[in-house]
Amino acid sequence: MSAHTGDAANSGGGDGRKRIYIVDVTNRDGVQTSRLGLAKLEKTMLNMLLDEMGIWQSEFGFPTTRHERNYLQANLELVERGAIHHTRLSGWVRAVASDVRLARELVPKLKYINISISTSDQMIQGKWNGRYRFADVINLMVEALQVARELGFEDIGVNAEDASRTSDEHLIAFTLAAKEHGAARLRYCDTLGYNDPFTVYDRIRNLAEETAMDIELHFHNDLGMSIGDSVAGAKGALDGGVNAYINTTINGMGERAGNADLVSTILAIKKSTLFDGEEVLDDSINLMAAWKTAKYASYAFAVPIPVNQPGVGDNAFAHESGIHADGALKSRRNYELYDYEELGRGEPEVIETGRNITLGEYSGIKGFRNVYEKLEVEFQSEVEARDILELVRYANVTTQKPLVEDELLFIARYPDLARKILTLDPSHLKVDKSV
Ligand SMILES: [Zn+2]
Repeated sequence: MSAHTGDAANSGGGDGRKRIYIVDVTNRDGVQTSRLGLAKLEKTMLNMLLDEMGIWQSEFGFPTTRHERNYLQANLELVERGAIHHTRLSGWVRAVASDVRLARELVPKLKYINISISTSDQMIQGKWNGRYRFADVINLMVEALQVARELGFEDIGVNAEDASRTSDEHLIAFTLAAKEHGAARLRYCDTLGYNDPFTVYDRIRNLAEETAMDIELHFHNDLGMSIGDSVAGAKGALDGGVNAYINTTINGMGERAGNADLVSTILAIKKSTLFDGEEVLDDSINLMAAWKTAKYASYAFAVPIPVNQPGVGDNAFAHESGIHADGALKSRRNYELYDYEELGRGEPEVIETGRNITLGEYSGIKGFRNVYEKLEVEFQSEVEARDILELVRYANVTTQKPLVEDELLFIARYPDLARKILTLDPSHLKVDKSV
């Protein structure tokens, strides 16, 4: 299947060894965060950046949500055109047959989905008030899974929401039912960030051994352990003989205290004592775009990167005290575990300190031409230039921030897809108080 690595991933790479893959969920879990969100253009830029980083899969949104429809379809067209050439784009839906059907109807090009349902007694009681029992949860999941397969979805993941508060017995039964009905992976969701790395390792290893099913690891950071839990879970999966798929978000953005941070998780796998240099990580991953990706996500979410953020924080490679500075200058390995160059850092950045023409929703053609000339973009005609300008204005209506170079280049390069991404159409709604 072309450049996509999906099939290879299921066998754990070409050599048959089990591996760790990354499924980034910024564009699904990250954007459902209270008080934070992204414009559809910004979500698109993140998919392009995740592709540049060689991330295996981006859970890029909600195919049953109507305002996502154009964005989702347009991003799947970016895959068809090779603009996103590696990263698979997958949707998140509730494990309800009608939702799976709606996803197929609204986003016909969608290939990959995860279907999600709560499995803990707490949530079964607390959400459904006795309407459903655990056996009903399995039936709902199996029905949704069967519909998904009939509708042509491939490589389907099944999510156990609140898995960390679900008994081993129920979790194994749920996983085996999913496997028997053709699911590719079980997503173990620590929805409340309740687990610890020791518990996770034991539970995931046991689940892997009991079911021989590949496992996705989804950890929240409410107790500050999301990255430790993710890598411990991945080790449990590998030691249990299956592939691991860690769910991350860029800069750890996510509900409440966030999710496992993408860059930190990759660094923890590659650089910590846990795997001790063993090549367990998907070898498509390229950290050279890490710095750029973290910076863009920070800009788009309008949330600063903490100065002490691993790898991409301003202080991640800064030294001041006499002993540390002297030691780092003599040999970087004295006080640096990994190199800033590996993360795409070290290049000077040009910051405009004089006149600065920016583009926004009220820009005119002169400023527009000035900015695009600096980007070395030429237009075939006056009509084309004015059309791109109009798209840039619409884009700024949705982002409400000065458009950055990559966004401007994207719009000039894929104007038809930019138009689709920027099109939000609530006209199907029949609300009308005037009648
Ligand atoms: Zn989550």
